[in-house]
Amino acid sequence: MKELSVIVSVYNEEQGLLEFYKETKGWLEGTGCSYELLFVNDGSRDRSGEILRQLSEEDPGCVRVIEFSRNFGHEAAMTAGLDYAEGRYLIFMDADLQHPPACIPEILQKLSEGYEVVNMVRTRNRTAGLIKNLTSGAFYQVINRMSDMRLEPGASDFFALGPEPARVLRENYREKVRFLRGYVQNIGFRKTKLSYEAAPRVAGKSHYSLRKLWRFSVDTILCFSNLPLKLGIYAGFFSALLGVILIVYTMLTRGGAPSGYATIVILLCFMFGMLFVVVGIIGEYIAIIFNELKDRPIYIVKDIRKGSGPEEKEETKKQEKER
Ligand code: UDP
Ligand code: MG
Repeated sequence: MKELSVIVSVYNEEQGLLEFYKETKGWLEGTGCSYELLFVNDGSRDRSGEILRQLSEEDPGCVRVIEFSRNFGHEAAMTAGLDYAEGRYLIFMDADLQHPPACIPEILQKLSEGYEVVNMVRTRNRTAGLIKNLTSGAFYQVINRMSDMRLEPGASDFFALGPEPARVLRENYREKVRFLRGYVQNIGFRKTKLSYEAAPRVAGKSHYSLRKLWRFSVDTILCFSNLPLKLGIYAGFFSALLGVILIVYTMLTRGGAPSGYATIVILLCFMFGMLFVVVGIIGEYIAIIFNELKDRPIYIVKDIRKGSGPEEKEETKKQEKER
């Protein structure tokens, strides 16, 4: 068993991948521990797959590659890394060098001190624009207010796990609509945090548009909080109160009641607006429940490579059976 697995999700990163490999390998060699670099190729459509295949042939002792059958998203890729990692300790990183490999020795130091969860917190993200920084701040505020969960602002998908937390996440957190960094911060265990400054992307561009981030944020908030479901009750109380006020007002001004067209139209729009929002929220929850219920796989592995041979496939099947 190796000491350390570094799990790297890769989606269309052909331009920076070799640089990532060289730099990360340099730091890993410096630590002196036995390690594997576990790349998860999340259905890249560029040459990333080819580059990874080549790396696994040139460096079979250290590089393993999990190939998905299509793009399943970053969360799925990290989950596959978690499932297939063979190391005792796990470090999750992005492939674009935004998570500096220079932090690895520091992380290992913390793990050797007995910490089981090491969260890496961004101090500054120079590369994200103003809008992304603002929306990211708002997201953490909303989620912390609405759920029991505590999420560190600036927390990222850069973290390290000891064997026990990794086992818990592997076995007990099999949700389809996922937010791994949220679980990591809320499973307890002895944890600590380190700060880092997000470097600019080494090449290529971010895969997360604002639209995708919005979708992701909504799903995450709904998965971690039941508060939106209760909105209907509050809206109900509010409109009932409004009704009572209107009854009293009409009785007091009997005879002199206003002609009322505008009032009726405004009230109708307002009430229907509220109603549809509540129905929509319930719809979002049903969509999530539906996804969970279908119980489709979080990801599908097409191939696992270590060196040039497909000899690992047997082992993969075995692992799959055990799971
Ligand atoms: N990624 C992935 N699948 C996807 C999108 C992204 O595996 O569908 C990987 C990507 O290659 C990178 C990491 O997830 O290593 C973070 O993505 P990105 O840098 O685009 O996000 P950002 O840093 O801008 O939040
Ligand atoms: Mg990035």
